Amino acid sequence: MNHNEPKIAYFSMEIGLDPAMPTYSGGLGVLAGDTILAAADLHVPMAAVSLLHRKGYFYQRLAEDGTQIEEPVAWNPDDFTEQLPQRVTVTIEGRSVHVRAWKYEVKGASGFSVPVYFLDTDLNENDKQDRILTHYLYGLDRRYRLCQEIILGIAGVRMLRALGHHSIKRFHMNEGHASLLALELLDEQLRAKNESAITPEHVGAVREQCVFTTHTPVAAGHDQFDMELVRRVLGPHEAFTLDGVFCLNGTLNMTYVALNLSHYVNGVAKRHGQVSRKMFEGYQIDAITNGVHNRWVSEPMQELFDRHIPGWREDKFSLRYALSISCEELTKAHTAAKRELINEVNRETNLGFDMDILTLGFARRATMYKRAHLLISNPGRLRQLVEQAGPFQVVYAGKAHPQDNEGKELIKRIVAASRELKDCIKIAYLPNYEMTMARKIVAGVDVWLNTPQPPMEASGTSGMKAAMNGVPSLSVLDGWWIEGWIENITGWAIGHNSRSIGESSDPNKDAEDLYRKLEHVLRLYYHDRARFCSIMLHAIALNGSFFNTQRMMQQYVLKAYY
Ligand SMILES: *Cc1c(COP(=O)(O)O)cnc(C)c1O
Repeated sequence: MNHNEPKIAYFSMEIGLDPAMPTYSGGLGVLAGDTILAAADLHVPMAAVSLLHRKGYFYQRLAEDGTQIEEPVAWNPDDFTEQLPQRVTVTIEGRSVHVRAWKYEVKGASGFSVPVYFLDTDLNENDKQDRILTHYLYGLDRRYRLCQEIILGIAGVRMLRALGHHSIKRFHMNEGHASLLALELLDEQLRAKNESAITPEHVGAVREQCVFTTHTPVAAGHDQFDMELVRRVLGPHEAFTLDGVFCLNGTLNMTYVALNLSHYVNGVAKRHGQVSRKMFEGYQIDAITNGVHNRWVSEPMQELFDRHIPGWREDKFSLRYALSISCEELTKAHTAAKRELINEVNRETNLGFDMDILTLGFARRATMYKRAHLLISNPGRLRQLVEQAGPFQVVYAGKAHPQDNEGKELIKRIVAASRELKDCIKIAYLPNYEMTMARKIVAGVDVWLNTPQPPMEASGTSGMKAAMNGVPSLSVLDGWWIEGWIENITGWAIGHNSRSIGESSDPNKDAEDLYRKLEHVLRLYYHDRARFCSIMLHAIALNGSFFNTQRMMQQYVLKAYY
């Protein structure tokens, strides 16, 4: 048998691979891309399934006052992927919906490849309303979302079979969007044995095949659908009478489906594992802390590692040897990355960012719990800070979900603060945050800022990308930072580390603590560069060597796939 034949199927509603392919919205999709790249690097026989998202998530423009304007993204799947001849069908509202797949090959460091199948219903033979089902990522209404999840989960399994992938032992659901794959696996059990009544044996056989990773400690982030809608769209199914497995309090709750039908479940950081065990009592939930792939390392930093740490691409653990790199060389590589970012910021905004000024980065989805506004919550205090400890400038970026009005308001607040503070602190809000820009920002700033409201940040990954580039974090203790933080060694903590779960922090105290820590960081940056540089090296050596997808994938293989 071909050793490349996939044994693991990885299902994700979004996957970020090529920055020019708008098949992702943010952290979840970027992580999926990094995961698949790591599988290819490590020769893990995997195939991945997602939707094509012909119109992408959205292209973000910002009006003068920061109002977000959303436009569909135009792209051509032919430029990146190969159209496959196979077709499968699923039944939606009684209609047969035809589905095709586009194949994208992910190549690992030594050439091993992992196929990614993007499902597409935009076919002539489909009804007009069905042709748009794979157009918009997280778009339109509940019904649309359910249809997409039917295509991902059910058509996804059927497509893998149609492509001849019959050796798959594990189906990995990256978030609950893919849970309906378990329904299809259950149907496969019934069809194979020519039975119609579901038994505990059938359920057990499905559980054996499934793995589930949950990604959000926010209740609203867990997909649910009214059973009435489900019956209308998907039709009646015996499984829906299995109370407590597919149906909970009259709803189809995708998280519970995945929890009930997976033999291995994990959260994405140690703290998130704890929070999830509390949210879903009675379930065994492990934790595998996220990582990032080395594609986030800037060119100058890659060249530096190539010179000092041969083989680091194949063995990310060897990044620990970064400690032997001199400050002079590290600074040179970082300055080159910073130059590229500053040039881009000045081109985009005409704000006159300065190479010699400490630059803070804050780029992530604009949504309330991420608290982009914490830094600018006390402008008077900020002016005082600059006077006492030295100047700084800030690069912001991030899209708000089209239905997240609070998130959109946050962008406007940052833009307004940028006007107000212009004479003393330069603040840029770059429009249309995506992977190419992310790579420039995480590598080019001097300090990575993160201020989520605990315990809402399941993991966070952009701070890991920064660490791999020698950029330390100044962050609230939540998600991965609880594990990555060593004060004054890998970066700095904002606020109190509440060891008890669910304890929310006081925003005023967090802001004051942020200013206090920032003052300390500014003094280090301007008056103790050797110390600052040592922290940069430790960010690579201690955090880059651990918070990477090589370590993460090895844990998935041993704990979940094996
Ligand atoms: C890494 C990344 C994210 C995720 O950032 P978090 O810190 O986890 O919120 C979102 N969007 C893009 C484009 C990214 O590259």
